[in-house]
Amino acid sequence: MITLHQIKNILNDIRPESVEELAQQAAQLTRQQFGRAISLYGPLYLSNFCSSHCTYCGFHSQNKIQRIKLNPEQYRKEMQFIHAQGIRNILMLTGESYKHTPVTYLKEAALIASEYFQGIALEVHPMETTEYKELFTAGVDGIAVYQETYDRSRYAQVHLSGYKKDYDFRYATPRRAAEAGMRQISLGILLGLSDVATDVFALYEHLRDLEKSFPGVEYSVSFPRLRTVKTESLAVCDVDDVQFVKIIALTRLLFPRVGINLSTREEPQLRDHLLEIGITRMSAGSNTSVGGYTLLEEKEQDPQFDIKDERSVDEIIKLLKSKNFDPVFTDWRHIENSL
Ligand code: SF4
Repeated sequence: MITLHQIKNILNDIRPESVEELAQQAAQLTRQQFGRAISLYGPLYLSNFCSSHCTYCGFHSQNKIQRIKLNPEQYRKEMQFIHAQGIRNILMLTGESYKHTPVTYLKEAALIASEYFQGIALEVHPMETTEYKELFTAGVDGIAVYQETYDRSRYAQVHLSGYKKDYDFRYATPRRAAEAGMRQISLGILLGLSDVATDVFALYEHLRDLEKSFPGVEYSVSFPRLRTVKTESLAVCDVDDVQFVKIIALTRLLFPRVGINLSTREEPQLRDHLLEIGITRMSAGSNTSVGGYTLLEEKEQDPQFDIKDERSVDEIIKLLKSKNFDPVFTDWRHIENSL
């Protein structure tokens, strides 16, 4: 088991050979465990109504943006667009609003999504086990819930109001999702919100604890970076590319079987490089606005965050193939979920 002190030493070691060595070991282990397969998924924003105020997010409740919640006809159109590009795993996202996007709404979206997609995951407000069970039987296989930071005092500073303010309820969310039968659970931290080594260490502890209790679940982790700060949010530290590469590599070395996701927040060049080291899942052709694929013009859109990699699904597939990777659209064929 790695200590916090060791993580700090690794991240602070600026010798080029240290990152190279770590990256090479991680690359080898990734190839042994995952071959050259990279799973692709598409995000679909269903709603940007949110009752929480997180200082780093454009959807927060105090922000005067156009609030939109897609109706079934609208999200079906968005799903058809994503499906037509070849994507078969979908991640459906909302702001955190129990009022605007209750379980009934999410269930209906999941049922329609199951007409088009083999894998259906949600990144929405945390729920109770019984609610996750309802979603599971409607076809949802995966839940993404990021703690953002494990530093309680920093957590309180950046989560000002709403349900997301409740640190403990959020921390226990992956456990409730696993109890409900979810096959895939994704954890994450927003790098830059607090001390990086401490957050990475706490994420590893969280993950280990879940692995012990629910060994059958397929876990993955995400490390979005908080870098551009436009409003009142404050990044405590800027995680540079070298540190970022080290975090990916270290995660692979400590958790050989865990999936590592990479979003389109990162620049194409870095995304391509990280593919070799430890990434196993990536989004492609993404849009982070509600209705962004088919319903709204670009000037009308309010994205949750800026995308750095704007390549289409086709371009990502070509890139993967040119680097001798196998793009994977279906790593799981959907069966009827029953309890
Ligand atoms: S991070 Fe999630 S909960 Fe927080 S403001 Fe954004 S959408 Fe709402």
